[in-house]
Amino acid sequence: MAKIIDGKAISAQIRAEISEETAKFKSKRGYAPGLAVIIVGQDPASQVYVRNKKRACEEVGFYSESYELDEATTQNELLALIDRLNADENIHGILVQLPLPKHLDETSVLLRIKPEKDVDAFHPYNVGKIMIGDYNFLPCTPAGVMALIKRSGIEVAGKDCVVIGRSNIVGKPMAMLLLHANGTVTICHSRTKNLKEICAKADILVAGVGRANFVGADMVKEGAVVIDVGINRLPDGKLCGDVNFSEVEPKASYITPVPGGVGPMTITMLMQNTLTAATIYGK
Ligand code: NAP
Repeated sequence: MAKIIDGKAISAQIRAEISEETAKFKSKRGYAPGLAVIIVGQDPASQVYVRNKKRACEEVGFYSESYELDEATTQNELLALIDRLNADENIHGILVQLPLPKHLDETSVLLRIKPEKDVDAFHPYNVGKIMIGDYNFLPCTPAGVMALIKRSGIEVAGKDCVVIGRSNIVGKPMAMLLLHANGTVTICHSRTKNLKEICAKADILVAGVGRANFVGADMVKEGAVVIDVGINRLPDGKLCGDVNFSEVEPKASYITPVPGGVGPMTITMLMQNTLTAATIYGK
């Protein structure tokens, strides 16, 4: 039987620490860390994420602004808003909710955010800093995974780590963070040969695939740590991860559930990055 890594509890603990730090920050500096969240269009999932981010800001004592822009917003209008927020001393973090509507160019939008305010850590400057191991911000989801691993007392150094997925948001930065923690890291993707065999050798297996129940017991070594980043919606509306939990749980030593594992950590890490941005770059 695996130990279940309780992302909700760990997230609540970290948020309590951030609240405490924020209270100290405010009494010392006389202002609150500020986060601006921009959403373009009506995507219901994105609207839920933005609402949750606003609520998390309130919970930890941040100042927050949210911009809900019309679907028809032009590239220039969006860039002008980012320029204004880049110059606003009350705002320390800017987050543009992805995906953007198709007529907007995501790359140039993300490039426009000042790296000091890029609390998602998607700007190439911050991506490069992560690569060389000299960073202030970590991308929120992989940072959340590392916090879960660390707070569960799991040692990464010397372990065989396998990451399934190589996206810029999850797989690649995840692999880099495990490498920085001295894991021996393999990255798998849709063109990987012998995926099952590679995964079955992992001491720590991280799945960021986006396919329900993709990881079965035959892909998991006895006693492995299994981290499920996937969020998939089943036809009945229920959420499920990339890992077949009921099959894998008896084999693993630690496992994250979906929901309640990695998911709650992402926004918490966003709060952490905003506090870091305000602490380092706030006036
Ligand atoms: P993505 O951009 O679609 O990337 C998926 C990755 O999985 C790709 O690298 C792809 O390989 C690989 N893949 C797909 N099918 C595969 C197969 N049959 N065998 C091996 N590899 C395969 O997705 P993402 O943005 O990284 O997100 C991954 C999952 O994490 C999604 O379920 C997403 O909802 C979830 N997510 C959760 C959080 C959170 O807060 N918990 C945050 C972000 C994302 P190729 O590169 O070869 O195509």
